[in-house]
Amino acid sequence: MKRGLGITLNYTPYAFTIATLVILNFLVYWVIFIEESRPDLSVYYLEVGQADATLIEAQNGNRILIDVGGGRATADAVINLLPFYDRNIDVVIITHPHSDHMDGLVPLLEQVSVGVVLDSGSGHRTGVVEEYLIALEGYGVKKVYARRGMVINLSEVAKAFILFPDRNTALLDPDNASIWVQVKHRDNAFLFTGDSFVAVERYMVDLDGERLESDVFQAGHHGSRTSNSAELLKMIAPDYVIISAGENNRYGHPHDEVMEVFLSTGAEVLKTFEEGNMVFISDQGGIERVK
Ligand SMILES: [Zn+2]
Repeated sequence: MKRGLGITLNYTPYAFTIATLVILNFLVYWVIFIEESRPDLSVYYLEVGQADATLIEAQNGNRILIDVGGGRATADAVINLLPFYDRNIDVVIITHPHSDHMDGLVPLLEQVSVGVVLDSGSGHRTGVVEEYLIALEGYGVKKVYARRGMVINLSEVAKAFILFPDRNTALLDPDNASIWVQVKHRDNAFLFTGDSFVAVERYMVDLDGERLESDVFQAGHHGSRTSNSAELLKMIAPDYVIISAGENNRYGHPHDEVMEVFLSTGAEVLKTFEEGNMVFISDQGGIERVK
């Protein structure tokens, strides 16, 4: 009896240790395999109704989420894209404090660790904004005002550039305080302008000119005529325009005259309510739509 117990005590821990090491070894190789099989940059334009949410992931697993509107369903959709062993988003950019760009953040924070939130600095306050500020404090997530000149290093070959705001936005209309971000991988670029109006677009065309050239443009303000001026679209010269809007939404987005502007650039125009989630990858060979 005693001997048997001795054998059990002697062998079981070793067997257990070896089995654990074998499994861990397998997991480590599996994680490395997943990382290496990822493209240099993946961009997920999520179908989230009349709202915005785009997840950007570098090969090394670093992630930026640009807006998270659409409530808990959007938070769940984002979580589904993350590996179970790495529920981490490095930077969440809330382009501006309207609920269709941010009401999924609180449910997201319940399950995902967020490094930092970039905020436009708009002074706009609503119940949703108050809830967001309380949640950031509760989860200990740092909030930083996005300002022109900031660069987020996703990897050695992928970076996100903050182009706007270049000023204190406390008194601006919240739409016009929207953060502009251009995500670049080598010569490939993805541009996001939130819900900025035409006045800001004109200012940015004067300021940045051809620097705004991007392969994929997420239509401003869900395809509204208040944004998406011909001057801006001429400068961006996109291959793809993504419109994030809900089917038969009450605003009539995308507006017909804006569709004409998009189509006149020769870009392929894609709507989330028709296409569902869309995924683009950027690799050595260029940009490719894979879903
Ligand atoms: Zn919006």
